Amino acid sequence: MIVQELLDIFNEWAPLDYSEDFDNTGLIIGNPNDKCNGILISLDTTEKVLEEAIKKNYNVIVSFHPIIFSDLKKITGETYVERVVSKALRNNISIIALHTRLDNHPEGVNHEICKRIGLVKTETLIPKKGTLKKLVVYVPKNKSGKVLKALHDAGAGNLENYTDCSFLLEGKGQFTGNKKSDPHVGKKLEKVSIEEVQINVVFESYLKGKVQEALFEAHPYETVAYEMYSLLNSYTNVGMGKIGFLKNEINSIDFLKKLKKIFNTGHIRYNNFEGKKLNKIAVLGGSGSFAIEKAKSRGADAFITADLKYHQFFQGDRKMLLVDIGHYESEQYTKNLIFDHLSKKLPNFAVALATTKTNPVNYI
Ligand SMILES: [Zn+2]
Repeated sequence: MIVQELLDIFNEWAPLDYSEDFDNTGLIIGNPNDKCNGILISLDTTEKVLEEAIKKNYNVIVSFHPIIFSDLKKITGETYVERVVSKALRNNISIIALHTRLDNHPEGVNHEICKRIGLVKTETLIPKKGTLKKLVVYVPKNKSGKVLKALHDAGAGNLENYTDCSFLLEGKGQFTGNKKSDPHVGKKLEKVSIEEVQINVVFESYLKGKVQEALFEAHPYETVAYEMYSLLNSYTNVGMGKIGFLKNEINSIDFLKKLKKIFNTGHIRYNNFEGKKLNKIAVLGGSGSFAIEKAKSRGADAFITADLKYHQFFQGDRKMLLVDIGHYESEQYTKNLIFDHLSKKLPNFAVALATTKTNPVNYI
């Protein structure tokens, strides 16, 4: 297997379009044509993780956090980022990062947190904008079934719990081909009027290439009459954080104790809370202070996240329990998520979870 094949697996599972604009995901170091002889999965790429990969003779590291996040203007070994980059290059190790592709993924970081806490009826906390596109295409009536099927096969019209969604409108299409034309119906230089169907389908933006390819393949016209555009609608399946319900109400102290156990952390920080028993819980793995107001407006009794600053704890207004479980702790199970997916896709390939501990924070 070459690195590109691995990238293809990730592009299909957690498409590039799920990345936030500020992010840096995909192949960060390496060559897509390099042969891959083993994959090591880690939350962060540290020098120690690289050493583990070298020792195991694995030449690909799949990391949640990208090792290069902001501008890298020199590689002299001064910072840990520079040292990791240089060591990876010297040892021909490829590094792939998934980061916000899995933050926004319907079954990514936050799905995993919900699963571990036991939340039910979960929804996305902050749906991602610009996730949907619409295709409107005009097809001769007798070919509309074929074109529609091709579009559905490419993933168009599959949204949340529904498949094969479309809206069809019958009407008349007209055109006149010039001297160089080769019309599917009628003759060149003659005005043609034909029964057509307008097909409307919505799809996730990352499928654009596939949908367009399927359209051109199935549509009989020399020049395909179509419109494709981005929608302002938010797609509730994709986005940051989740909100859901506990199966049984619980008091805050018991809940905090439970979280401490689930996330195996020696230290949980939480605000002053005078609210009722907890039922509706919002979660956002990693630095999630930007979502405090959103969790509040959606009526969460508690919001579990990480990296909260002193003043942000006041934002709970004593009514919403704010819980900082630690950055690493909140995202740690993402490693297992990547491991499970790759093990399923590559059952006979060397895939392993790094044993190196990468959490840079300790508690006493
Ligand atoms: Zn993170």
